[in-house]
Amino acid sequence: MPQSADKVLDHNELFKQPEYQDLMARKKAFEEAPCADKVKETEAWTKSWEYREINFKREALTVNPAKACQPLGAVLCASGFEGTLPYVHGSQGCVAYFRSHFNRHFKEPSSCVSDSMTEDAAVFGGMNNMVDGLANAYALYKPKMIAVSTTCMAEVIGDDLDAFIKTAKQKGSIPEEFRVPFAHTPSFVGSHITGYDNMLKGMLTNLWAGQERKESNAINVNGGFDGYCVGNNREIKRMLSMMGVDFTLLSDPSDVFDTPADGEFRMYDGGTTIEAGKAAINAKATFLLQGFCTAKTGEFIKTAGQEVVALHNPIGVTATDAFLMEVSRVTGKPIPESLEKERGRLVDAIADSQAYLHGKTFSLFGDPDMVYGLVSFLLEVGAEPKHIVVTNSTKEFDAALNALLEASPFGKEAKLYAGKDLWHLRSLMATEPTDFLIGSSHGKFLERDTGVPLIRIGFPIFDRHHHHRFPIWGYQGGLNVLVKILDKIFDVLDQDTKGLSFDVVR
Ligand code: SF4
Repeated sequence: MPQSADKVLDHNELFKQPEYQDLMARKKAFEEAPCADKVKETEAWTKSWEYREINFKREALTVNPAKACQPLGAVLCASGFEGTLPYVHGSQGCVAYFRSHFNRHFKEPSSCVSDSMTEDAAVFGGMNNMVDGLANAYALYKPKMIAVSTTCMAEVIGDDLDAFIKTAKQKGSIPEEFRVPFAHTPSFVGSHITGYDNMLKGMLTNLWAGQERKESNAINVNGGFDGYCVGNNREIKRMLSMMGVDFTLLSDPSDVFDTPADGEFRMYDGGTTIEAGKAAINAKATFLLQGFCTAKTGEFIKTAGQEVVALHNPIGVTATDAFLMEVSRVTGKPIPESLEKERGRLVDAIADSQAYLHGKTFSLFGDPDMVYGLVSFLLEVGAEPKHIVVTNSTKEFDAALNALLEASPFGKEAKLYAGKDLWHLRSLMATEPTDFLIGSSHGKFLERDTGVPLIRIGFPIFDRHHHHRFPIWGYQGGLNVLVKILDKIFDVLDQDTKGLSFDVVR
């Protein structure tokens, strides 16, 4: 027996033992699998130019898309408001998936409920589910607000959220004055970032209804669908506090996805309060830090009379400069010397490491704003993005990214593949390899297939722990991104130089 109580083997080691290897080899006799040579030949063919051309002719089949469905984004947005319970009207399997998705990324609890529509609701509509669901959620989990979104089942049968919520109130499920912001979030339109946008707009529509705007000197900031919200939101708050700016973070899940382990489970923690959300209508301007992710909300905020400053992931020197200078312009507050020093330190770090970054080529995938921020940073440090895949691309993003690439000599070789998936990216990386790949954990299969090392920046990060606790925005965040990239460059260099150039000083 390979197991011993002195050194228990988990599955990673156990199945390498001779007994298991022998067992699996004998099992093969019943599998009728193609022979090893045929597998090798087919694998090599899938990495050829011929296969790449066939692959890019796909019209109906999607393989490994780098996007999720709308309600996932709605749940993240709702989680950022104080005492707010995300409630997804529709079938419950979706909610199990949304919660486990966030659990695995943040390694934290993720609270969200469903009203569990089943076959009868698909025929007669889900009104009874809403009436009972809201009553139960309100009584059991004692939220301050319930934010309703929809699964695709509820969308296909055309359930009317506004009417259902009003009926639930009339039937006494929840008090008449209790806030139930809602958004239709059909999964067959857009992606998780569209759902985030719809929910944020729904939230502000509810909070700002019936108010007259009295302009103040405060600003609102929204981070969009951000897997780094824990580290990033804290960094944004730190920088704005250093500037002495009066601000409100619209949707702030940085506490609820980072509660302490001190013996008490916190279902709700932190977040934008109802009062702050209501008062946010008076702000002078709203900063959307992932503007492609929140375009509809931006339009809504403009109609309320506010200026909207749309940015796209302030990663690195140029993008952070733009953010802080815009904040300074809008509020009249100068950028303090302490932040200027942080900037100088990031510039210093880039200059120290520039020789290792210059000319390195990168494949990238992710959400539009994430990719825009990363490309902007790569160009800034003299690296060369090459294959850029954005499954949930938009026309505005395509135009903006192409303009960004054209403005830099380091962007000349880059090409955006809008609407493509990770199986497309596999063909690109197999036929025209790059030095590195940047993306979420899903990129590890590309790394294994093509040998191109993966730098994990994106959402979701399932197979590494705690990255989300550290910012990627601001000068400090830029430093983190720089170190992530450099660490991988140096690891690969050390692996590849066993003899003469295995230097202790790099
Ligand atoms: S695609 Fe539809 S069924 Fe699947 S998780 Fe999203 S809402 Fe649920």
